Amino acid sequence: MKIIKKSKEIHDLFKSFNNIGFVPTMGYLHKGHVSLIKQSLKENKNTIVSIFVNPKQFNNKKDLKKYPKSQNSDIKICKQLGVNYLFIPNYNEIYKWKTKKYKYPKIVNFMEHQFRKGHFKGVLMVIEKLLNIIPAKKIYLGEKDYQQLTIIKDFIKINKIKSSVVACKTVRDRGGLALSSRNKFLKTINKNTAARVYKLIKEYKKNYKNKRFEINNLMKWFEKNKLKFDYIENINIKKFKREGKVTKNSRIFIAYYLNNIRLIDNI
Ligand code: AMP
Repeated sequence: MKIIKKSKEIHDLFKSFNNIGFVPTMGYLHKGHVSLIKQSLKENKNTIVSIFVNPKQFNNKKDLKKYPKSQNSDIKICKQLGVNYLFIPNYNEIYKWKTKKYKYPKIVNFMEHQFRKGHFKGVLMVIEKLLNIIPAKKIYLGEKDYQQLTIIKDFIKINKIKSSVVACKTVRDRGGLALSSRNKFLKTINKNTAARVYKLIKEYKKNYKNKRFEINNLMKWFEKNKLKFDYIENINIKKFKREGKVTKNSRIFIAYYLNNIRLIDNI
């Protein structure tokens, strides 16, 4: 595995390949990232993983400061998996890279866009650089961040970029908590609560199938358990719109807090 820190070096290298899978990450790799990497390794001759904690997508400085890092173990994981290239740029390598002007898609003002002002603009700013530096045939993204996935797909479409997005299923722990780098800050008791939230939403979807989505019961549970949440939404993932009924295309999207850590999921 080759570790590359310079954008020009990786750009020049990848001009000569056409079968590339690209897995962008912010590091502190876990089994969720690993599943994306494995899928790319299976489907492409070359896989490149990037690690870049993008300051522009953090709407809170404290959150950026405490974002977990583990470069040595990340390198080890990528090596063991058989990743071909690991791209670890610094801020200037990304943001001094000149690209053409891209259009940004319209983003509906709900969920993450509503509660994390500027977050998706920051995500698109890094994605336009990364996809320009690494014009990969396929880019692997997790359904865990479904709204992000949808926005990046729109961005690629409206700018006629030749990369296609491969959406990968959410990897969870045994209780159902979606793996995330931020889970490092959770205690066992929080993980148990997260497992209850997962079960609650699963049951809810089963009980309300083809019925009206009534947020009240879910809200009451959160209030009773003194858990803070930003939103609970029933979204038709085919249209990526709010839906009144719980259907087979419904996913319940949620952002809530455990131990002051903000967790998002869609079930
Ligand atoms: P991050 O390092 O959090 O920016 O995530 C990098 C990529 O991994 C994104 O496309 C995420 O959606 C994806 N990802 C993060 N957690 C999971 C998970 N538990 N299961 C599947 N994909 C994930």
